[in-house]
Amino acid sequence: MSYDYQSLLDRVHATVAAQPIRGKVADYIPALARVDGRRFGLALALTDGRVFSAGEADEPFSIQSMSKLFTLVMAQRLYGDDLWQRVGREPSGTAFNSLVQLEHEDGFPRNPFINAGALAVTNALVSRYAQPERAILDFLASLCGRKKIFIDEDVARSEEQHGDRNRAIAYFLKAHDRFENDVAEVTRTYFRQCAIPLTCRELAQAALFLANNGTTLDGARVLSPVQTRQTLAVMLTCGLYDGVGDFVFRVGLPAKSGVGGGIIAILPGVGSLCVWSPPLDARGNSARGIDALELIAADLAVVPGVL
Ligand code: GLN
Repeated sequence: MSYDYQSLLDRVHATVAAQPIRGKVADYIPALARVDGRRFGLALALTDGRVFSAGEADEPFSIQSMSKLFTLVMAQRLYGDDLWQRVGREPSGTAFNSLVQLEHEDGFPRNPFINAGALAVTNALVSRYAQPERAILDFLASLCGRKKIFIDEDVARSEEQHGDRNRAIAYFLKAHDRFENDVAEVTRTYFRQCAIPLTCRELAQAALFLANNGTTLDGARVLSPVQTRQTLAVMLTCGLYDGVGDFVFRVGLPAKSGVGGGIIAILPGVGSLCVWSPPLDARGNSARGIDALELIAADLAVVPGVL
């Protein structure tokens, strides 16, 4: 008999939901602060086509930094190995929106998942696409099997209004000749990519190619097998910012978080998970999301970095 994924998700959902809520819903983007901290969903898409879910898996939420995973993939497709001239692949050990390391390291962002690196990636997309925002929306829509995806204009406006820190990072890259486009245009695109709402089910679906050696279940190649391995490596070492060591210790899967409270985690060869719970720990990662993934990883006997 095959593994009973549904009862695993149900059990994990019930166990985690019964614990008191820890952490705090992100409020530095005011539009995100309005989200109810009790929301909680889980979805698992398998490479054999089955999908399982528990809780509020069909409720859209702000993908925030999970968008950085998909823009990284788009940039890998466009630039190949040259992308790594623009951004590194070392964990930063600093907060996702930190500026300190950039000063020491000539404005070369440590990795594509901290804001500096994600802005460098979005800058790279703006250089190649006439309509970068459209390209990002279309790419995500094609991966999660939707005709159209929309931006939450409230969240986008809120990010733009409170985006001075991200603009500062972008200007810093520009001062180091690592940013060939207009700062306002790139930060606008970046804020808008973060303000896309998707559900756990859609996000698990969208990231499934990463569990499937770089191809979708329809057989469309998104990344080469080597690029897929590289993306998973960057997720494993950098996907949860300065909380990544603890996350790999507890969960051990390549993952990407967002301050909307979502985390995507990949089970290579098996499937793709997405959890959503808005209250965040001190590092800006979903507290319950990590608890849930830890229970799932323990049940599946995940060996960190191997599965
Ligand atoms: N839009 C957010 C920001 O730039 C994304 C951060 C995140 O999800 N970690 O601050």
